[in-house]
Amino acid sequence: MQTNPEGQPVADMICPACGSHDWKDTGQVKDYSISGEWFSLKECQNCHLKATSPQPQDQDLGRYYASKDYISHSDTKKGLINKLYHLARRYMLEKKHDVVTRAIRRDMGRLLDVGAGTGHFAHYMSEYHWDVIALEPDENARKVGAEKLEMEIHPLEVLGELKEDSFDVITLWHVLEHVQDIGGYISHFRSLLHKDGVLIIAVPNHTSRDANQYKTKWAAYDVPRHLWHFSPLSMEKILTKHGFELAQKLPMPLDAFYVSMLSEKYRGNNFLGPVFAFFSGVLTWIASMRNVDKKKIPPSLPKAGFQNIMKTLLLFHHFEINQQVTTKIIFQ
Ligand SMILES: [Zn+2]
Repeated sequence: MQTNPEGQPVADMICPACGSHDWKDTGQVKDYSISGEWFSLKECQNCHLKATSPQPQDQDLGRYYASKDYISHSDTKKGLINKLYHLARRYMLEKKHDVVTRAIRRDMGRLLDVGAGTGHFAHYMSEYHWDVIALEPDENARKVGAEKLEMEIHPLEVLGELKEDSFDVITLWHVLEHVQDIGGYISHFRSLLHKDGVLIIAVPNHTSRDANQYKTKWAAYDVPRHLWHFSPLSMEKILTKHGFELAQKLPMPLDAFYVSMLSEKYRGNNFLGPVFAFFSGVLTWIASMRNVDKKKIPPSLPKAGFQNIMKTLLLFHHFEINQQVTTKIIFQ
């Protein structure tokens, strides 16, 4: 077992969601896609946020993204998994557009897409006349976006140059699990949004049905690229701490098919893997559909006390309702 000796051990940190120091080791997870190294998963005993430990520091992270197969960057269409991924992406672009327009109640505005990858979502929204700023740290992905979609995608550093109070919507599609300083980013996003702005976040949910099925081989752990692994409770704690009101939780059930395919591959189940993955995807889809958060975004923000609290739409993929969390959603 090749372990990773470098990086910051999570035991020394306080939980960025709830401030607890109480981390428990919940097993070892392998980086199946690139390095083959093993990492620990530590879980906060108070809010169930999980952390990859040790967490590679910024200067070392690059080598874990070196694979040409890292799809959101390289945009390859080779292989069954990648083909399915591209089909699913087309479908999801439409869904994401719907989520944004419903959240803001109009089909135009100023949108910041952070972690834009090769820029497909940003491009799709700009075709609908949205004024879009796209940011992506990976230079290769920015180049692909510029060549294929003629999208101008900016490096992440531009985040510090954006004007405060200037966006209607900020979207983070599977981004937050990659960044070290979650709180720093969220409070910066808050300053960039208009008073009635909406922050839309999609992250994997480690309490989902397929996560429980595949356990440490669940592909959405994706260590060490994913530094954090969220539960609905931990995500809600982080966001309310930084002045956001949780407006709605929605599932992204299609992701479960892709994650299940990869998880079967990690199990070494190459022959019947796609069949098992299909059934796992269907079961997770059904589970998440049954648990769609039926509550709609409130018609207006509260009159007093919460004027400055912005709305957050959380999209946990293959989300399953945790009763403890749903009862705590604030809709004043
Ligand atoms: Zn915690």
